[in-house]
Amino acid sequence: MTVVVLAGDGIGPEVMREALRILEKVAPDLELEEHAFGAQAIRDTGDSLPEETLAACEASEAVLKGPIGDPEFDAAEVRPEQGMLRLRAELDVYANLRPSEQGQTSILIVRELVGGLYFGERGVREDGTVYDTMEYHPTQVERITRRAFELARGRRKKVVSVDKANVLETSRMWRRVVTEVAGDYEDVALEHMLVDNAAMQLVLATDQFDVLVTENMFGDILSDLAASLTGGIGLAPSASLSDAGPGLFEPVHGSAPDIAGQGVANPMAMMLSTALMLEHGLGRVEEAARLRDAVWTTHQRGGDIRTAEFGDAVLTELS
Ligand code: NAD
Repeated sequence: MTVVVLAGDGIGPEVMREALRILEKVAPDLELEEHAFGAQAIRDTGDSLPEETLAACEASEAVLKGPIGDPEFDAAEVRPEQGMLRLRAELDVYANLRPSEQGQTSILIVRELVGGLYFGERGVREDGTVYDTMEYHPTQVERITRRAFELARGRRKKVVSVDKANVLETSRMWRRVVTEVAGDYEDVALEHMLVDNAAMQLVLATDQFDVLVTENMFGDILSDLAASLTGGIGLAPSASLSDAGPGLFEPVHGSAPDIAGQGVANPMAMMLSTALMLEHGLGRVEEAARLRDAVWTTHQRGGDIRTAEFGDAVLTELS
């Protein structure tokens, strides 16, 4: 089984190093192939997602990705984030799973990842107006909804669909399609919620939620909120899945340029993303559980430790 490793920018290589150490411990048979991606790839090749990297990702069983992004390119024409959006679209990893767990609380946000505002037509008109557009086809809504209901069946059997149906045309269609799909899952409860209310409810009554399903931008924002409620962004992993090809596994956080190079980044989100890869990407549920348990046990021991020391402690836990 080949796993493509994209270490990323900023704290990316630091947290990836620790994740790979523990991955090699629990699944030594995996072939890990590193490829260029992000800001470093722009400096080296002029492209954040070089053709050779994309081809390797497409031919792999799974892609393990560190965060990308560098302030150096914030105003540039070619930016690392463009390569990230292209990679998600090329792999058609439309289902982005963002679990948040802490104590009694366990929420799974299922975010549509390859449609909506981040992929719609955008531009500048002659009069200086700048625009982005949000578009969805009903089939895009149907496939992400089915994923969410399937996942809810393995959990507490409750789906909250988040939209802005009082204002947006795309949301009204979203709500109609979700309601239709729910007819095939009568064992799962469905509730519709407006996104502004969902943000408030997440803060005030987190435990009412099990699975949330929502479009690309709402999911981006709500999952950061959910992560901050359950231990912070340094702990939040994600899995992005397609229907057939390799999945993409990455932490929710970015490249944290403010702390890069200091050896203080929390590698937990990267490690938990690696566990999601073992579980959802490679079907290796037992190794995934072993890795996850070791990471959480180390975390619960507490203490303010540096990136590599956390890696050492997880490795000790696994031996
Ligand atoms: P960020 O997540 O990089 O940082 C936000 C804050 O959280 C910072 O204070 C940072 O130090 C802290 N933080 C993040 N991860 C941490 C960790 N593992 N341990 C300890 N602290 C951590 O978000 P940002 O500052 O908005 O973005 C920085 C860059 O990252 C931008 O270029 C952005 O485009 C990029 N980004 C990339 C991804 C991705 O690759 N998927 C996601 C989000 C942002």
